[in-house]
Amino acid sequence: MPKYVYRFDEGGKDQRDLLGGKGANLAEMTRIGLPVPPGFTITTEACRAYMRDGRVPPGLRVEVTTALRQVEDALGRRLGAPRDPLLVSVRSGAKFSMPGMMDTVLNVGLTDASVQGLADMSGDERFAWDSYRRLVQMFGATVLGVDARAFAEALEARKAAAGVGSDVDLAAADLRALVDDYRRIVRATCGRDFPQDPREQLDLAIEAVFGSWNTGRARLYRRRERIPDDLGTAVNVVAMVFGNLGDDSGTGVSFTRDPSSGHAGAYGDYLPNAQGEDVVAGIRNTLSLDDLRTRDPSSYDELLAAMRRLETHYRDLCDIEFTIERGRLWLLQTRVGKRTAAAAFRVAVQLVDEHLITLDEALARVTGEQLGRLLFPRFDRTADTPLLTRGLGASPGAAVGEIVMDNMQALARTRAGAKVVLVRRETNPDDLAGMIAADGILTARGGKTSHAAVVARGMGRCAVVGAEALDVDEARGEVRVDGVVLHPGDVIALDGTTGEVFRGEVPVVDSPVMRYVADGLDAGLRAAPDGEVRELVHAVHRLLTHADSVRRLRVRANADTADDARRARARGAEGIGLCRTEHQFLGERRRYVEQVVLAGSDDERQAALADLLPLQRADFTDLLEAMDGLPTTIRLLDPPLHEFLPDLTELSVRVALEEERGQADEHDVRLLAAVRRMHEQNPMLGLRGVRLGLTVPGLFALQVRAIAEAAVGLRRAGRDPRPEIMVPLVGSVREMQLVRAEAEGVLAEVAESSGVPLEVPIGCMIELPRAALTAQRIATQADFFSFGTNDLTQTTWGFSRDDVEGAFFSEYLENGVLTISPFETLDADGVGALVRIGVERGRSARPGLHCGVCGEHGGDPESIHFFHEVGLDDVSCSPFRVPVARLEAGRAAVLAGEDTTV
Ligand code: PEP
Ligand code: MG
Repeated sequence: MPKYVYRFDEGGKDQRDLLGGKGANLAEMTRIGLPVPPGFTITTEACRAYMRDGRVPPGLRVEVTTALRQVEDALGRRLGAPRDPLLVSVRSGAKFSMPGMMDTVLNVGLTDASVQGLADMSGDERFAWDSYRRLVQMFGATVLGVDARAFAEALEARKAAAGVGSDVDLAAADLRALVDDYRRIVRATCGRDFPQDPREQLDLAIEAVFGSWNTGRARLYRRRERIPDDLGTAVNVVAMVFGNLGDDSGTGVSFTRDPSSGHAGAYGDYLPNAQGEDVVAGIRNTLSLDDLRTRDPSSYDELLAAMRRLETHYRDLCDIEFTIERGRLWLLQTRVGKRTAAAAFRVAVQLVDEHLITLDEALARVTGEQLGRLLFPRFDRTADTPLLTRGLGASPGAAVGEIVMDNMQALARTRAGAKVVLVRRETNPDDLAGMIAADGILTARGGKTSHAAVVARGMGRCAVVGAEALDVDEARGEVRVDGVVLHPGDVIALDGTTGEVFRGEVPVVDSPVMRYVADGLDAGLRAAPDGEVRELVHAVHRLLTHADSVRRLRVRANADTADDARRARARGAEGIGLCRTEHQFLGERRRYVEQVVLAGSDDERQAALADLLPLQRADFTDLLEAMDGLPTTIRLLDPPLHEFLPDLTELSVRVALEEERGQADEHDVRLLAAVRRMHEQNPMLGLRGVRLGLTVPGLFALQVRAIAEAAVGLRRAGRDPRPEIMVPLVGSVREMQLVRAEAEGVLAEVAESSGVPLEVPIGCMIELPRAALTAQRIATQADFFSFGTNDLTQTTWGFSRDDVEGAFFSEYLENGVLTISPFETLDADGVGALVRIGVERGRSARPGLHCGVCGEHGGDPESIHFFHEVGLDDVSCSPFRVPVARLEAGRAAVLAGEDTTV
């Protein structure tokens, strides 16, 4: 039978799968001698058994009894004993942090009998009854399922009866009466009494925490954060320590460095005379660690020593929850702290400079997604939009949007296409849906470690918290600030770095990191407003340069114009992986396509194509010039020709009207016949790609000639063009053979007539399952492969991208068929298997065959790791994503454990 319970001195930080993050780290802190209250962890395996069988696994009770007895012996107190009782907290803690999404029950063990023991022990009767009423309330709501509003109403009634405005003014007798009220509520709604057996309380609380893995908000959070649904949560049972025993007690959250800017040095929030959840709930505004130093220097020193210890032990920024009980420090939690993108880069490089980690490790600790966030625009500081108020910048970014005040408004307005800012007094886990929908979050209460701040940072949402001047009147749907009254729909702008809140829209400008990737280090440094941002630009530069030195994957860009190509090159692209030539056939040039389609004879068609030649030659000259010296893959025309022709319905109406007036235009009539002839039910699977090249004589030859002549022209001008020709939608080697023969003929002819030798590789896209499966044959005719994972995803799943994403993906994500759109992140099991087969079979016929990818997945971090692993040579993505791909390709090499020393 598996072991379900681990004492804190039995586990360690590497057991997060089994003990959850919180449990593993409590064990680790215990092991290295930091002051952690005694306790034990019930494993995630027990939770999985509970979810599977609908009851706690046999044997768990006995193990809990043994572990509890050891805690009791260590402290010399018994759970819920009438004299000097031990109380415990029962806390959730999954492998991945899910802040506030699951349940916790504090003060377990308090009963009518033990409440007096607690009063005697603490010498504070009010405290004892307050703890008891909190237990009945929390236990009632989370374990027994009582509507929390019933408790809130009873509390309000008691306050009114006592004539006080706040709960802290209720006397012991009031609280005692409140406990009676609460217990009546429990009896009336549940048909049972609040349990007076401490052990029964503990068992029910454990079960409730298991169950809270599957609450709606927990599931929503997991879906967003892509945390698997079947991991389950561990449960930590910890001896209670109290931060609310008077002014020499308190509770707080601290970080070993500032999680928002990455600034070195301890950072945190402290609330005197309060219990743990009060800080995170953001209900009262907090003091700083400097205030703690003044109030209680010895606890402060001990806390700082513990923080230093943790940072050198974990070799990373840690966050810590602590409680001071009558001058004694206890650590209740630590973990490697969530941080903003800027902090991630700065902290990683600081730790390298402090010799705590290597550059490889630093690279592994930042992500392409974080780099992407640093590339977002910032507010233009020179604009004169009126400042509304100011709060704490808790999660950087620039958000502009309409005010919404609850989840429903947030969802309704974003569905209608609006950008919104969620404005709340404070947020709690039930606001998650609105927080996800919003571009920014603004709260009136709470510190940088409040729920809103932590969740927003985790999601990369811009947030300003603790804007105290705001009066958020949720009942009236009004936000008042300094005489200004705002309503849902009014536009505001938040700066998540400075904490400024503006009324109306503020224009945006490039971020300094964007300037850096686009124009180089000097430009980035010049754009930085202060030393901190300069440090950030340097940190990004250092890690990106390191990524470049260790990555094996080359990074190219998908670019169709010379402008895009130059942009990509400036961002570090090492070539063009895909130029979609169809984009050169739009606008004015559509009429040439019409001529090709309407041509009555070969000669007519050739004449129409000949008109296109100089235009295409100029396109390719520009592109190859911009990419001088770098490989430039030009794809022959891919979409069906009818995409360049008028819409069937519009044209039918036009011709019908013309005919009615007796003025039928002959060109229109012929065009309509052609459009009808070419109309396809399923164009994605129809006459496109190589099929078009083989059925419209001269079309591909024209493009090949234009490429060849552009290359010759540039060579003569002393340049170094490196074109590569790519054939789309190949499914059979014979197709490739035919196109290749034609293309080689044209290349040879141009080389001969110009006297300039041309070596132009001819390869193909692998974007149909059949191409991947017969890659060993196709490779005999292809100089390179490029996986078109957009079409390969469509054809492997049988999904028409344009149709299915809007139609049913939300249901598929909801019911777990998909965890993310396969068009965003490569479906490694299915589509990825075909990529793997394509590479292996292709290289079996042609060793060393160059393989790349040019579907959207080439810029997606997770997919890049997959492409590295299957041994591709390069990824190609949009110019904007190139720095992200460079970084992730470096991370892929480091994380795959390759020897990156050069
Ligand atoms: C692909 O299919 O992955 C691809 C790059 O081609 P397109 O998106 O142009 O069809
Ligand atoms: Mg394609």
